Amino acid sequence: MAYDVIIVGGGPAGLTAGIYARTRKLSTLILEAQAPGGQLAWLYPTKSVYDYPSYIAVEARELGQMFTLHARESGAQVAMEEVVEVQRLKSGFKVRTRPGNEYDTRAVILAMGMGLFEPKRLGIPGEVELEGHGVDYRVRDRHEFKDQRVLVVGGGDSALEIALEIVAAAKQVTLVHRRGEFRAMEKNVEAVLKSPIEVLYNAEVTSLEGDDRVRRAVVYDNRTLKKREFEVDRVIVNIGFQPTATPLPRWGIELEGERLIKVKADMSTSVPGIFACGDIVSYPGKDKRIVTGCGEAVTAVMSVYRYLKAPYWA
Ligand code: NAP
Repeated sequence: MAYDVIIVGGGPAGLTAGIYARTRKLSTLILEAQAPGGQLAWLYPTKSVYDYPSYIAVEARELGQMFTLHARESGAQVAMEEVVEVQRLKSGFKVRTRPGNEYDTRAVILAMGMGLFEPKRLGIPGEVELEGHGVDYRVRDRHEFKDQRVLVVGGGDSALEIALEIVAAAKQVTLVHRRGEFRAMEKNVEAVLKSPIEVLYNAEVTSLEGDDRVRRAVVYDNRTLKKREFEVDRVIVNIGFQPTATPLPRWGIELEGERLIKVKADMSTSVPGIFACGDIVSYPGKDKRIVTGCGEAVTAVMSVYRYLKAPYWA
């Protein structure tokens, strides 16, 4: 059996595409590699989203769950599988996934967001050994930090927002940044400076120590070379993410750079039958927001519908 449409990516854009595909009764499979709700739910599950209309504030994971529930309720299938190949056939496409499954489909919508990525690491002694044992690169649940002494490394918006997210629950939050000023938005900097977070500027973590869990972090002032040792329960390193290899260049679609898909106003790509929406697309004036991704998803679905009904569609 061939699906009418397979949607690659189960973030807000992909799930919205699923919901709208079902309004046209298209048989629909959504394939998501990381977490139901996509990067939103994977990267910062307990962080609040403030710019999704009708929610003044909503936790990212909850928003992702509501999107997923809505897509499933509308009749779309949602499976947790990483897509590794989209192959063009004489009629339609074959989609292959990491567990080794193959699916046939008449059309494809690519909604993979920024693609898969991994955290940048500090590359210091103890980091690899203690990863997952108190050393992490994202916050899975801010409640885990209750009464903990936490060292957060980084000076961008992500690191500052993590420090702000956990400060109410934690016993102590220390933010370590290698320069004398933050890279983050003024709004976040102001909030950090007003909070009980201890800020160490011009400071670098040089090793992490512990046995079965992280216990200590060694931090140097990079101007004075003065050393400080911190007793810690948790360390969150957040110094950016780097994308893993993308399969996109293999799929024969016209790209903008290596990772963005060029689309026309109807969200069609250079390959007939493949459409795209969300953070992965590129067009003049593109803005990466949840709501714009959802809007593009609706356009992509209507284009899929016209494509599948051609030549009968006026
Ligand atoms: P980022 O802006 O690239 O910041 C990375 C931080 O890590 C920088 O402060 C950098 O220091 C530091 N760093 C990098 N390598 C390091 C190393 N080896 N040792 C110590 N420190 C190191 O990354 P991000 O915070 O993930 O943000 C990525 C983008 O998303 C940004 O454009 C950000 O504004 C955006 N963002 C927006 C929001 C929001 O709108 N609410 C939330 C999160 C992120 P230097 O400053 O010295 O280079």
